[in-house]
Amino acid sequence: MTKMTVSKIFESIQGEGAWLGVPAIFVRFHGCNLACDFCDENKHEFGQEVSVNNLVNELVRRMERTGWRHIVLTGGEPLIQPGIAEVVEKLLNYDPLEILQIETNGTTGLRFEHPYHYKAWASCSPKEVNEWKIHDELYRYIKELKYVVTEKLTAENIYDVIKDFRHEHYVNIWLQPMWLPATQNRVDLNSLVKAIKMTKEDNTFRLGFQAHKYWNIE
Ligand code: SF4
Repeated sequence: MTKMTVSKIFESIQGEGAWLGVPAIFVRFHGCNLACDFCDENKHEFGQEVSVNNLVNELVRRMERTGWRHIVLTGGEPLIQPGIAEVVEKLLNYDPLEILQIETNGTTGLRFEHPYHYKAWASCSPKEVNEWKIHDELYRYIKELKYVVTEKLTAENIYDVIKDFRHEHYVNIWLQPMWLPATQNRVDLNSLVKAIKMTKEDNTFRLGFQAHKYWNIE
């Protein structure tokens, strides 16, 4: 039986991107295939093994109890989990679900077939340590791109990705000022200034925000 590793399932409010403010049920998967400097994944040290069926049943149970219609699969990196495509397919079978958001670093593919595939809504945050590359299989599901504004990031890095999009749907491009790790717990001012400058220079970019950090919720 396929087992996935989950750090936590929790109910909260989406704090960033196009779904900012929506109540959602989050699954935080444990582990990632990258190691970004600014990552706070290591604070989620433990993961518990969960079967695909148990995970899906728990999420459906929570949707029924709360009446919420939005699920966020996050991490870590959710797409490296064995059985993730099965979880996606099974959740899409649950009719009341409106959006299945998948927060991914873009390195790993996802393949599934489902008539409601358009409800799978990938928020992709390409990473500098992977030279901002995105796996081909993800283009179909990506509805927004979120870039952490590091010293090295340039508009050209983003244009390189956009030109490879083979679908025609609109993709929000967020520039997220970097958040400094837990001891400082504040936005990096250099990153913020750079994000504002880049947004003013290209009006297809959007200045991003991580409201949950200010709201002090998970
Ligand atoms: S991709 Fe995300 S979870 Fe993985 S190391 Fe980078 S910031 Fe952390």
